[in-house]
Order: sequence, then C-alpha cells, then structure tokens
Amino acid sequence: MLKVHNFSAGPCILPRQVFEKSAESILDFKESGLSIIEISHRSKDFVEVMDKARSLVKEILNVPDTHDVLFLQGGASLGFLISAYNLMGVNKTGGYLVTGSWAKKAAKEASFMGNSIIVGSSEDKNFNYIPKGYSISNNLDYFHVTSNNTIFGTQIKSFYQGTTPLACDMSSDIFSRKIDVSNFDLIYAGAQKNMGPAGTTLYIFNKKILGNSSVPIPTMLDLKTHFEKDSMFNTPPVFAVYASMLTLNWLKNNGGLDFIEKQNEKKANLLYNQIDNSSLFKGTANLEDRSTMNVTFTLENDDLNETFNNMLADAKINGLKGHRSVGGYRASMYNALSLESVELLVNVMNELEIKKG
Ligand SMILES: *Cc1c(COP(=O)(O)O)cnc(C)c1O
Repeated sequence: MLKVHNFSAGPCILPRQVFEKSAESILDFKESGLSIIEISHRSKDFVEVMDKARSLVKEILNVPDTHDVLFLQGGASLGFLISAYNLMGVNKTGGYLVTGSWAKKAAKEASFMGNSIIVGSSEDKNFNYIPKGYSISNNLDYFHVTSNNTIFGTQIKSFYQGTTPLACDMSSDIFSRKIDVSNFDLIYAGAQKNMGPAGTTLYIFNKKILGNSSVPIPTMLDLKTHFEKDSMFNTPPVFAVYASMLTLNWLKNNGGLDFIEKQNEKKANLLYNQIDNSSLFKGTANLEDRSTMNVTFTLENDDLNETFNNMLADAKINGLKGHRSVGGYRASMYNALSLESVELLVNVMNELEIKKG
C-alpha cells in the first residue's frame, strides 16, 4: 500500500491499527456477524464501547471525580454555543481570549444569549501570539480560551488560574500533553484533530455547572440532558465514538500522556530547529507561543514554492498547505504522526536548503 505522510490539520492521521480495527468492525463487530454501524446503540456491546471511551478519557487525563465526560455531536462549532449556554450565570457575561478565528467564532456565539466581552486579542498581529497580562473583571460568569490555535500555530503554555470558571476549546491539542482537568469547568474538543474521525465532540465538565445556567437551554444543548442519560439521550455517533475509543486505547497502551508529550516535543523541536536555522524558511508564530501541534511557516522567496511543493509530493508528504488566512505552510503533527514522518519533512527542507540556500 502507498505510504503517505499525512500532515493534514484535520480530519487527521490516526494510528494505523485504529484504521485496521475500524475496517474490520465495519464488516463484523466482535464476530457477531453484524457491523458496528448497524447494531443498536442500546445493545450491551455498544454500551460497553461508550462506557469504555468515557472511562479511557478519565484515565488518560486523570479526570477528577468532580468532573464527567460525554461524547456528543455538532463539532466544536456547536461547542461554542453549548459552552456559552451552560456557563451563563447571573451576569449573563462571558469573557473571551481571542487568539484566532475559532476563538472569535466562539465569542460570537455567546452574544446570542448574553454579553460577550473580549478580554484580550492578538488580532492586531494576525494572531501570531498569545496575549498575556490581561485582567479578568469579576463580573464575568466564565472565561473562555482556545488552548491551541490550529490555523495560526500558537498554543497556550500556561492556563489562567484564577477564580472565574474556565472554559476551553481544546480541539487541536487535547491528549497531546498533560493538563490539570480540575482547573477547568468545561473542556470541549471535536474528535477529528487528535482523537478520532469527525462526528463526535468530547465534553469534560465540572458537574457543579449542570442546571446552573441563568438562561433557558434547549434540551439538546443542555449538558445535563446528556449527563443524566450517560451520553445516550439520543442515538450517539456510534462509529466516531468507537474509533475514538480505539485511538484512546492505543494512546494508553503506548505510554499515555507522559510518553506522547515528550514525543510531540521531540517532533516539534526537530521541525522548529530546521526552520530557525534555515535561510529559506521563516516561522510565523511568536517563539514562546509556538504550537507543538501545528507548525506554521513560509518560504521567504515565493519563487521556490513550486520546487518545494514538487519535492513534498515526491516524498509523499501530504497536507502541508497553510490555511488561506495565513498562507505559506502548516505542518500538523498530531499524536499518530510518527517521528520518522517529521524527519522526512526535515530532510526535504534540508535538501531545498542545499540546492537553493
Ligand atoms: C477545527 C477546530 C474547530 C472546529 O471544529 P468543528 O468540529 O469542525 O466544528 C474549533 N476549534 C478549534 C480549535 C479547531 O481546531
């Protein structure tokens, strides 16, 4: 089979064994003669999958008993709205750290049911840094941040620690590094960046937020609805949950966050070193805020783009085109991308350097 090195931003690369096991279970799930996508979501076999997926999240992230975990639908984009609905308190005000286009979209959704305050923004420099030194006024019901800015290649290295409830869109770096879940009232993440196929969205929340919103919440957007039904209020996205469970199992069996965090740092250092020591490439993100997941860079001389693109294609490196709002290149290096794939990319960049640098 053709081996392609997938640096795509999402949907993303998953472990080979997840694809194999998923393919097998599409045809015959647990030797039942039935497909994983045709069995009842209320069957014992599927309930086991859902329970296993939820418990793996708890185990890998060390989720405290105060918190619970759900697998819902709608993507992180619906999470913008769900987070605002569930966290609106007496002030009907959410604060937002606007570090990219996703954060901006999240801030917009809050304005549908309350006030959405921009606490800090890096839009002045096309989101190439993480604002710091902002102050949180005490009339905020919650403070919302985006841990990793998939498009602009920046990442929050240390999270807000104050008393205002913290909400986080962790779509593109969840399970990539250790986090202290107890610090967050709500975390949500679309599966397709680092956990599984598109179609399910992970929610991790402090149970104390349930039923405490100051605004009426439509049934499907109320986390309490899904919590009370163990993530089975309506038909869950069975295949996406199943494949996510397989990925989480792979992560657990491969050293968990201790291992993957080191591995992701290794991959990122390798690529950033190549960029920093290059005469042709230039990183676009502020040094101290650079993401380990999405590395954004440009070729200073546009005339070299075609040569570089052809070299990438020859090396079977896929998905390196930057987002249209930044241009240039973006290497997304999610958990399942191997160190060897990054080494290959670095070699290709080096070759260009030798030819043209
Ligand atoms: C991809 C992404 C989203 C959007 O996710 P959907 O599941 O497509 O709605 C939101 N936030 C971040 C940080 C992302 O990377």
